[in-house]
Amino acid sequence: MSADLILRGGRVIDPSQNIDGVRDVAFASGKVASVAEHIEAGPQTVVRDVSGKIVTPGLIDLHTHVYWGGTSLGIDAVEFCRTSAVTTSVDTGSAGPGNFAGFRKHVIEPSDVRILAYLHVSFAGIFAFSSSVMVGESEDLRLMAPADAVRVADANRDVIVGIKARVGRRTSGVNGATPLKYALEVADEVGMPVMLHVDDPPPSYEEVLEMLRPGDVLTHCFRPFPNSPVQSQGAIKPGVLRARERGVIFDIGHGKGSFSFKVARQMLANGFAPDTISSDIHQLCIDGPVFDQVTTLSKFLCLGMSLPDVIKASTVNAAFALNRPELGTLKPGAAGDASILSVEEGQFDYVDVVGEVVTGTQRIKAEGTVIGGAWWHPNE
Ligand SMILES: [Zn+2]
Repeated sequence: MSADLILRGGRVIDPSQNIDGVRDVAFASGKVASVAEHIEAGPQTVVRDVSGKIVTPGLIDLHTHVYWGGTSLGIDAVEFCRTSAVTTSVDTGSAGPGNFAGFRKHVIEPSDVRILAYLHVSFAGIFAFSSSVMVGESEDLRLMAPADAVRVADANRDVIVGIKARVGRRTSGVNGATPLKYALEVADEVGMPVMLHVDDPPPSYEEVLEMLRPGDVLTHCFRPFPNSPVQSQGAIKPGVLRARERGVIFDIGHGKGSFSFKVARQMLANGFAPDTISSDIHQLCIDGPVFDQVTTLSKFLCLGMSLPDVIKASTVNAAFALNRPELGTLKPGAAGDASILSVEEGQFDYVDVVGEVVTGTQRIKAEGTVIGGAWWHPNE
């Protein structure tokens, strides 16, 4: 069978197969068909020359907010994915069981890009997050909806990958870690992981980390003081090391208030790289300091992570967190998604959530995407 599409001559970086070299990538029937040094085109094959560019498995952004129009923090997934070369946007808790049906029907189903979701344990998800109104959806335990969450998660297993909770002084207030207990109960019942947001204490970073199980995700993992993963002199907190040992997944979730260059430098100096790099893109950070996923990935390149390690944190590692082995890889038979990137050399300023500016010499740029085995929404 001849291919529908061949990406010709790019530098293929696929950490799931330890590939880093010039290859052709072929797609057929919506899936990856093969990766090889030369692939013959058939009479119907579309061939795109991507020499000089980087080809990776379709990038996954594990933490986004894309319930556009249904929640005040939602951004438009299609435009975001186009500018970020992302093919899978994972919404984390924008919707709860009370408003998930609208998210599914009006956003997820019509979307060109793949949208997966962590369902919030709070009834209406993150319903009041804007520059003028900010009400934590975990502040009032009457909003905790475990039975509804179980029913909705179970009925939407094709798109719901886990359960979301937010705890901290800004989101759960006097309820502390209690919303996490509801989320864990739901997750146990449906057999899914939890993604946990932590902000300012109480509760403490280590206290909630202790409650997470293997496969659960802690997002905002490199957040600034207070509730950062490091002690003042830069040593990693013991509970953080124990949690990694146990199999808890550490996700960046940059956002407006949750990523510090200082903390990232300290963690990387201790040999502790994040498992997944995600943007936490939403209305209040899309015009900076986040902008998009390629900027978030570029920050880690500038902090000294290798390009294959950065790609790994937005492909196969994210697919592992999602329990979706058909994503984040260019193995034959995998979902027919790929991202085409380039790395520009120059002087680029990057800023974190506390205003520290780091000038880097590299910037990852989105050059295009393949979705479902076809070239999608080109940038030119
Ligand atoms: Zn978020």
